[in-house]
Order: sequence, then C-alpha cells, then structure tokens
Amino acid sequence: VFSLELKDVRKSFGQSEIIRGSNLQVPKGERFAIIGPNGAGKSTLFNLISGRFPISSGAILLNGEDISRLRPFEINRRGLSRSFQITNIFHRLSVYENLRCAVLWSLGYKYSFWQRLNGLKDAHERVEAVLEQIGLKNRREIGAGLLTYAEQRALEIGVTIAGGADVILLDEPTAGMSRSESDAAVELIRKVTVGKTLLMVEHDMSVVFGLADKIAVVVYGEVIACDTPINIRNNQKVKDAYLGGHAPVEV
Ligand code: ADP
Ligand code: MG
Ligand code: MG
Repeated sequence: VFSLELKDVRKSFGQSEIIRGSNLQVPKGERFAIIGPNGAGKSTLFNLISGRFPISSGAILLNGEDISRLRPFEINRRGLSRSFQITNIFHRLSVYENLRCAVLWSLGYKYSFWQRLNGLKDAHERVEAVLEQIGLKNRREIGAGLLTYAEQRALEIGVTIAGGADVILLDEPTAGMSRSESDAAVELIRKVTVGKTLLMVEHDMSVVFGLADKIAVVVYGEVIACDTPINIRNNQKVKDAYLGGHAPVEV
C-alpha cells in the first residue's frame, strides 16, 4: 500500500479542466519532486491532496484510505501536512508561538480532556525539539514576520513538521533564495524528512537532484512521467514538453 496515491484525479474550475487525469504512486519513506511549467497544476494538486478544494472525479488515497472527501483538518490528523507556495506563517506571533500552534492543532478535538492535557504538557518538549532542528534564534522575542525570508521559510518547514505528520508536502520551499540559502534549506529538508514521505514542488533542479528519489513531471494537469532523476533527464517526452522552456535536461 502506498503512502500517497492519486488515481485519475480530475479537477475543473468552472469550464476549465485544470487537473486532467493525474496518476501518481508515492511509496512510504520516499522523496518525490514535482516539476513542470508554471501553471501546470502543481499547486492545485497540493490543494486537492490536502483537501483545500474537492476533486471533480478520481480518488486520492493516504495509506490506502480514500481521503478525497475529507476536510483539511481531518486529512492533517491522518498524518499529512503541507506548506504553501506563498509563505504562510503568523507574522505577529513569535517563532515559538507559531510552532506551538502547529503542535496544539495537530492534537485536534477528537481527544479526551486527559489526552489533551497530556498533549499540552508534551507540547513544550515538541516545540523545543522542532526549534532544535530548524535552528532559529530569537525564538520568543520577536514577531516571525521580522525574520529574514530564508528564516521564515525554515520556520514554515518547522510548522509543517511540528504536528508529527509522516507525509510532508512542500510547495516551492527554496523559491527566491540565494544559492547558499537554498543549500541550507536542502540540508534542513533532508534532515526533517528522514523516514518520512516527501512531495516537493521545486523549480531549482540542483535542489531537485539533491533531494529527490523520484521526479514526477506535471504538464497541463497530467503526470506525464515519473521516474528516477537520471531517467527523467534522458526522457524524450519530458524534453519535448519543456521545449523552449527551462529544461531539466540542461542541469
Ligand atoms: P502551478 O503551481 O503548476 O504553477 P497552479 O496549480 O497554481 O499551477 O495553477 C494551475 C492553473 O489552475 C492556473 O491556470 C490557475 O490559474 C488555475 N487555478 C488554480 N486555482 C484556481 C482556482 N481556485 N480557480 C480557478 N482557477 C484556478
Ligand atoms: Mg506557479
Ligand atoms: Mg505553484
């Protein structure tokens, strides 16, 4: 049984079909990069998987369970957590408070009073553990919006993993970073996803080749290829789809 599986997923907004029969199988513990031209539907796929929008048809399975009719928080409680293409943190809360929110929300409301009380006691240790991993200073003092862009992105990764999800979706985690910042982000992502399943939308091919076990290529709402980085690099269908664009084959 796969960690995540898309079966002929379709999604229309009004008259336009944006996701046009996507299929994908992500084994447990593997790191997948999703690449494809701008507007191909990569972020929309994340929105469908995380339950932000309902699919039009098909199925999305998380550890074998059909999650395609569940709401975002229900999917999150089944162990899937995602970040957003545009950094999504609470700018006026501290680093610590952002992480604490993520930990507490992951506990949910289905737990008993005693379980939640234990969760609260446990929350501090969990926040500390994530802080240790993402390595941010000034964790209590200042608004998170005052951090550098790269630090905000690191915090966002922390927020995404803080609830203990084992399927992690990251949408363009290194976009807009300098080379050294994105190198550091790759190391952080590698560290926090050990033993987890990762799906990452990413345009920077050195990041993709540095992290991904497999690459899924999305073009015009379809997964046209899914293979190892080396095979994707030599895939004629992928080369053709990228003609005139920033081809992954040039890296
Ligand atoms: P990518 O992340 O691959 O760059 P997106 O998934 O953001 O692409 O967008 C794919 C297409 O779907 C775009 O044409 C976009 O305008 C359209 N789209 C995305 N979300 C919506 C929406 N909520 N309503 C209508 N169209 C949308
Ligand atoms: Mg885009
Ligand atoms: Mg996008």
